[in-house]
Amino acid sequence: MAKEIIVEVLMVTLPFQGHLKPMLNLGKHLVSKGVHVTLATTEEGRHRMKQNIQNSKVQFEFFSDGLSLDFDRSNGDTYIKSLNVQGSKNLSTLLTSLTKVHNYFCVIVNPFVLFAIDVITHHGIPCAMLWIQASALYSIYYHYYKNIDSFPNLEDSKEKVHLPSFPAFDVRDLPSFMLPSGPPHYNVYMNDLFQAFDKLKWVLGTSFYEIEEEILKSMDSVKSIYPIGPLVSPFLLGEKETYDFRADMWNAEDSCIEWLDSKPPSSVIYVSFGSITVLSQQHMNNLATALKNSNKSFLWVIRPHDSNNASELPREILEDTKGRGLVVKWSSQDKVLMHPVVACFISHCGWNSTMEAMVTGVPIICYPDWTDQRTNAMLIENVFQNGVNLKRGEDMVASTEEIERCIREVMEGSSALKIKKRAMEIKE
Ligand code: UDP
Repeated sequence: MAKEIIVEVLMVTLPFQGHLKPMLNLGKHLVSKGVHVTLATTEEGRHRMKQNIQNSKVQFEFFSDGLSLDFDRSNGDTYIKSLNVQGSKNLSTLLTSLTKVHNYFCVIVNPFVLFAIDVITHHGIPCAMLWIQASALYSIYYHYYKNIDSFPNLEDSKEKVHLPSFPAFDVRDLPSFMLPSGPPHYNVYMNDLFQAFDKLKWVLGTSFYEIEEEILKSMDSVKSIYPIGPLVSPFLLGEKETYDFRADMWNAEDSCIEWLDSKPPSSVIYVSFGSITVLSQQHMNNLATALKNSNKSFLWVIRPHDSNNASELPREILEDTKGRGLVVKWSSQDKVLMHPVVACFISHCGWNSTMEAMVTGVPIICYPDWTDQRTNAMLIENVFQNGVNLKRGEDMVASTEEIERCIREVMEGSSALKIKKRAMEIKE
């Protein structure tokens, strides 16, 4: 009798919420097809997810990024340098020991573990990338860093960018990593990343074909990206909630779901800025006042963080909005977005949150911060048309009046009906 062949795959990611979640969603899909999946991340991840990984069907392995656990990794330059030197050495040692017992068919990385690509190719294993942002971002970066198209002067935020299959858009809506106003080490990183694309055997995307058809087609003549999404939690695609393992870094306050249960359909604004963005005091005050003035119910996730610059929610807001406003430290976002009382989502437009809103048909009020988020916000307003983008000046602070205007636009009158109709079309 022929010996049964077990397909084995290794995945490598940094342990950020927005990186782990799509990798794990893919890992779970592969496991359900009988593939053996190992996911390697740094020791920091072991520390943060400790209580969550026991039940996982994906096997976890850890390696050191070369920095102590309490090191502040928001200093991207030092972090990248340590990953390149220590991280790659430690990943290579791990790979040597794993390949004694596993015969990996391929290793799947994401764009933020560039150091891993050389390690994997050196070990002679085919390398695939899971692109964890919109395919549009892949296209923009590829055209820029591979010098395929000319770009306007990036110092001028109002200049127009013209790219195949995109409407013309402002320089300020390009990913912040590309812009001269951003820290230079991210620009260097993205350039190095795109030069390494020639070593990749396949590029997969978490996005889905229907939403980015023209962009995907235009990339076929350059370097194809194969969208395998929407790569969101199986629960959001109608499967039973099994949660054998969640990538969450914080425990969700599920009492907010009971609170949502008490509200009328399509009446609540959900507010979340993901796992990294921290609002400054001015942003927080304006948003709080706009939510108060809107007279709508809202559920706002304000994550605990270590930074000394943490801004405080103005105390009066909770008193003034008693019964209609709830603040939690972390939510089960999947369950919140699936809830029929949620009318719209004030979001920082991280790609995971954007896709989760798409598959649940929830209109988005875009409040982007950095990296791909401003480009996503531009796409949401102009291309996907399932939301509105807050207008802001050069200081990036959204005025109270502008936030109130956007809330009205997605919750009241004919504009709201149009946006909701489009959000539901995307969901279908
Ligand atoms: N998330 C969550 N609960 C929260 C806030 C966020 O489960 O209270 C999840 C959200 O569902 C998404 C991820 O955290 O899958 C955030 O990823 P995203 O790409 O949107 O943003 P990032 O955190 O990477 O900036």
